[in-house]
Amino acid sequence: MIVVLKQNSDKERVERLMQHFTDMGLRINYSEGANTTILGLMGDTTKLDEGDIMAYDVVERVQRVTEPFKAVNRKFHPEDTIIEVAGRKIGAGYFNVMAGPCSVESEAQIVEVAEAVKKAGASFLRGGAFKPRTSPYSFQGLEAEGLKLLLEAKRQTGLPIVTEIMSEKHLDLFADVDIIQLGARNMQNFMLLKELGRSNKPILLKRGLSATMEEFLMAAEYIFAGGNTNVILCERGIRTFENLIRNNLDISAVPLVKMFSHLPIIIDPSHAAGRRDMVQPLSRAAIAAGADGLIIEVHNDPKNALCDGAQSLDISQFDTVMSDIKRRAEFEGRTMMLQ
Ligand code: PEP
Ligand code: MN
Repeated sequence: MIVVLKQNSDKERVERLMQHFTDMGLRINYSEGANTTILGLMGDTTKLDEGDIMAYDVVERVQRVTEPFKAVNRKFHPEDTIIEVAGRKIGAGYFNVMAGPCSVESEAQIVEVAEAVKKAGASFLRGGAFKPRTSPYSFQGLEAEGLKLLLEAKRQTGLPIVTEIMSEKHLDLFADVDIIQLGARNMQNFMLLKELGRSNKPILLKRGLSATMEEFLMAAEYIFAGGNTNVILCERGIRTFENLIRNNLDISAVPLVKMFSHLPIIIDPSHAAGRRDMVQPLSRAAIAAGADGLIIEVHNDPKNALCDGAQSLDISQFDTVMSDIKRRAEFEGRTMMLQ
């Protein structure tokens, strides 16, 4: 349930109302926007009577929220949320491109790619150190060593980094990571979600391979429930009957998230199709649909990449795609976050 307060309400009276709700065992999500202040109530609100609440003269309106996701619901927070990371804004028209290899392979590789994507205009460096692979015999990532190399690339280029976590046991290793990615395969790893909820790190939450929009937003709700409100959603394609491409990009996820949630959402056009020649058209679609950014796989030598080479752009292809992205993002009224 949400309780919309009258503008310029007396603080003490509002506090009295809030006390009434806490006494009933409810949790309150206080959201003060430019024009409205909203108390979002969480817990068992069935025993609440709308009429009783309306009797408080600070109350403008009461509305039941039927969706199971509350704190991430736009009804709880009508304005777009902006996540601030390393001096960059994400969301509400601020557009970021995160780029880099699927996995960190060596210092030379990650530094070369970092310099190139920075020059082309990316505002974050991506790169996997812990890799969730279908086969136990495939390259699993350089793990802790990979994180060190990413931090070295960050030191040399100034680009903040985004990288995937696979276990809550590794959280300490991620202390200097700017954005922690929670991969598609772990979207419903509830232990990990709870642990990330207790941290204060920005989280890039990727949609599960066959997750519904409600399950996706409920995963974000888990992180919020632990107290961490720095969540960026990422649509990366879902599994369908189609087998010519790796996944199907669900472009409708963008307007749907915007309708139901205040969180920023970015698109991963690389995993969505699994083909480098589809990265540019899908990036265009993402911008047109209202996405807040892109995460793109780029490799200095895609043919010999240890992971996801077929969907990785080489450096000159990324340059071309980036100039197109910049033009189109500007045309759509987005503010590009550049280095
Ligand atoms: C990745 O970003 O390299 C990755 C494994 O992504 P996803 O979890 O979306 O498959
Ligand atoms: Mn990948």
